[in-house]
Amino acid sequence: ASVESISRIHQLDTSVINKIAAGEVIERPASAVKELLDNSVDALATRIEVDIMNGGADLIRVVDNGEGIHPDDLLLAVSSHATSKITSADDLFSVQTMGFRGEALASISEVSQFRIRTRTADQSQGLEFEVNTGAAGKPQPCGCPLGTSIEIRQLFANTPVRRKFLKTTKTEFGHISEQFTRAALAHPRLYMVLRHNSKVIFDLPPSDNLIDRLRLFYGKKLADHLIWVESEVDDIRIWGYVSHPSQNKSTRKGQYLFLNGRWIQDRTLQHALTEAYRGLLMVGRQPISFLYLDMPASMVDVNVHPTKSEVRFRDGQNLYRQLLSTLRSQFLSMDLQTQMSLTK
Ligand code: ADP
Ligand code: MG
Repeated sequence: ASVESISRIHQLDTSVINKIAAGEVIERPASAVKELLDNSVDALATRIEVDIMNGGADLIRVVDNGEGIHPDDLLLAVSSHATSKITSADDLFSVQTMGFRGEALASISEVSQFRIRTRTADQSQGLEFEVNTGAAGKPQPCGCPLGTSIEIRQLFANTPVRRKFLKTTKTEFGHISEQFTRAALAHPRLYMVLRHNSKVIFDLPPSDNLIDRLRLFYGKKLADHLIWVESEVDDIRIWGYVSHPSQNKSTRKGQYLFLNGRWIQDRTLQHALTEAYRGLLMVGRQPISFLYLDMPASMVDVNVHPTKSEVRFRDGQNLYRQLLSTLRSQFLSMDLQTQMSLTK
């Protein structure tokens, strides 16, 4: 080919870059809800209220009472790769926050009508700022309580293909409700409210006990049939509840795993769970579980997946063994094996 006909390389515009990032991180309304909830948690909110209209296609509003955003940083908050959470690459291996990429708000505001209101404790007035599918307005003073309120209208308004791919209101709200549930189970101390089309779906008082929150979500019967498990090996603590074998499901949908306050999925640990229940459940049945892992941030890489739902453990095999033996020794001490063969 002649030199003239060779495709030339050019740097993409920020707005194109943001749309690509949005494609990775914001798949559907529920992804935006997840990012906003993460931000409220990172802002040390104690109360988070979520309002959804029409499965999130028309409105997603998340209001928190967290520390707010410094007035000079509002523009940065919606800029890509701008974050208050890390500074250097080394920080990636010690992140304590849910977020660190500084991409979510930039992505969301690129593909929606976005409005943020925020006030920090030392300001008497709040600031309001709008971005209409990437076009940023000017921050304006506004009356606003301490914390941050973010509204997302017409998500994917300027990416019609994405918008068309949205499923029914019911399906999209189902995904949102699942994201809300994950956050609520990861942080039982948070006061959390979820409304859909102005109807209250969840109104969760803060709770010091995980079991109280589980009871609210899943009812008394399951809560009464949960088994507490706990172990600590070196710096790794595993704790939480797993179901008595009499309580089970046909899918893994009732299995929740949290790492340092973050909902994650992990095949190896799923395996450990299955292995522990071997002989206690009918083939094809799955236990219900709410398991929490706490370990130093340096023992896990959370920067391997766009939505951080999968992580890489420094020593996955050891973790597998720890979970399996934690569950097995608890089941042995309760003599579950005999119990279950008697009831079969
Ligand atoms: P990240 O969370 O990865 O830093 P985001 O795009 O989600 O990136 O947010 C950008 C920045 O905006 C955050 O680093 C934080 O400083 C600020 N921010 C976003 N949401 C909130 C909130 N609810 N309360 C306080 N600050 C927020
Ligand atoms: Mg974030």
